[in-house]
Amino acid sequence: MPRSSAFLHGKAITPGMALGPAGRVEELPLPDITERYSAIGPEAENIRLDEAIARAFHQIEKMRGRLVGLPEEGREEIASLLMVYERMLGPSRLVRQVRDRIAEQGLCAEAAVSEVAQELASQVVRMAQAVAQENNTQEADANLRLAGEFEEIGRRLVRNLTGISYRAFSSLPPGSVLVAEQLRPADVAMIDPARIAAVVTQGGGGADHTAILLRALDIPAILAVPNLMAQVQEGEMLVVDGHLGTLTLSPSEVELRMAAEAAQREVKEKRAFGRLRRLPAQLQSGEDIELSANLELPAELPMLLRNGAKGIGLLRSEFLFGERDELPDEDGQMEAYRSIVQAMDGRPVTIRVLDWGGEKGRACMRRLGLEEQVADGDNPALGLRGVRLLLRVPEVLETQFSAILRAAEPEKDVAIGPVRILLPMVTSVDEIVEAREIYDRVVRRLRRRGHTLPDPLPPLGIMVETPAAALTVDTLSKQADFMALGTNDLTMYTLAVDRADSMVADRYSPLHPGVLRLIEMTTDAALKARRPISVCGEMASDPRVVALLIGLGLRSFSMNSASLPRVKRLIRTLTLEDCDQLCRQVMLQNEPDAIRDLVRQFAT
Ligand code: PEP
Ligand code: MG
Repeated sequence: MPRSSAFLHGKAITPGMALGPAGRVEELPLPDITERYSAIGPEAENIRLDEAIARAFHQIEKMRGRLVGLPEEGREEIASLLMVYERMLGPSRLVRQVRDRIAEQGLCAEAAVSEVAQELASQVVRMAQAVAQENNTQEADANLRLAGEFEEIGRRLVRNLTGISYRAFSSLPPGSVLVAEQLRPADVAMIDPARIAAVVTQGGGGADHTAILLRALDIPAILAVPNLMAQVQEGEMLVVDGHLGTLTLSPSEVELRMAAEAAQREVKEKRAFGRLRRLPAQLQSGEDIELSANLELPAELPMLLRNGAKGIGLLRSEFLFGERDELPDEDGQMEAYRSIVQAMDGRPVTIRVLDWGGEKGRACMRRLGLEEQVADGDNPALGLRGVRLLLRVPEVLETQFSAILRAAEPEKDVAIGPVRILLPMVTSVDEIVEAREIYDRVVRRLRRRGHTLPDPLPPLGIMVETPAAALTVDTLSKQADFMALGTNDLTMYTLAVDRADSMVADRYSPLHPGVLRLIEMTTDAALKARRPISVCGEMASDPRVVALLIGLGLRSFSMNSASLPRVKRLIRTLTLEDCDQLCRQVMLQNEPDAIRDLVRQFAT
């Protein structure tokens, strides 16, 4: 009997709507190796091993043949994974140790392969745990991926040795939503994105290779859905929302229709967006508009580049180390920033120093001995947050400045970056002065130690996200090199409406005339002081609101990268006069609802 629809939640990996029948793919388990020792002798075992290796090379060659026709990012990711597999199947540590065990201990090939692959994988997992404790997430992630690669090659060889077949994704009907307990990177390499509507798995995480590959292939995907396999039946209709990480089981007619429409819209948009990527963000009247992206995790980088971001306008560093309860040391941080700066390949990167406080970074703060500050105050949003908190623990700020400056060091005399540094939650000039003193001290120390810092140094800017800052930009701009309007918090503090409180969500409106007037004042003051100014709050991800902000004098925006193409598309159809006109009409209004209507009706 058909059941009524139900929702499951998981980790949103690749944004995108999709719908289709569930195609459950279960893996045939590997055989238990009951007979560890060979009955046929080492020579014959080595011949069996050679055959299994040759078959594995052949399988990898087949995977390589499938790369043609995949999106560029997917092709690169999978090609480098296949190279790792091939190296492991060559005269590698793994193969050497397997042959040693066959020769010295008289093991059969499958027992030797399975034991060695497991041991090597466990060794690198231990290494991953050790480096994770030193807060080097990138190295830890790389080691975990390597462990997965040893396991993969081990499994492949055991299957080839024992004749246990692989799961066949090709048997899924076209348009299926692939549902699996676990998907390995090598499995993703065998998926045909043109035949699979989406992927949903019970296991997995946001940073593993499977996730990276799914994103690179642009397949809508949700991983880590608890209890998935027990709840999804073969062939039942599913709606996958890869933006939110929700899976609807047995959707109603209406839900299905809406999902189908959304998916169709996205397909059309993607086609158009592919063409947009290389086109300039320019108004019809000729003015250039700078469109950058906000970034929380390195995993978002491929999408950010795919969507044509001109740079990173806001790197929220507190999320970069988010799932840890301790902050990496200077070297660990430096590596994290540098790899992002390098990946951006000459595009500007604006790194915001830790915006801890409220709910963010509590565990870290506790470890830093800031118990009292994290104790549940009545008003954490008005408590020790952002730059005020960092100035209480200057050693944390010093370490971060130092790591950022080192990440921006030229490479063999060739500049990388440019990098900019942003202070969060500034309310008064003394905070910038104090932070700059620390910055200058760090610069002097690094120079004494022989570091070649970029010339000019990374500029030190401020978030304008409190009414106090917005009202005094003329003064603050004497100390700050640039400004970034944080309209999420500016709206919250101006309207006294908590941005995360659903009870007052209907009152949270960045289009409130009070907020717009503060934005206008800030922009005018920054332009008068000849300081660069951008907007990096969520407001900048709505194309029509961006038109309004252009009318207010702004020319630089940073947003979640998924919104970039849509914003660029509208900008390219407008003239400056269109934006000015919208702005003039809006600024005459006193009611947020009237402003919302004007904006909604604009350019339709
Ligand atoms: C903002 O407040 O608008 C902003 C960009 O910062 P965050 O959302 O990280 O607080
Ligand atoms: Mg903010």
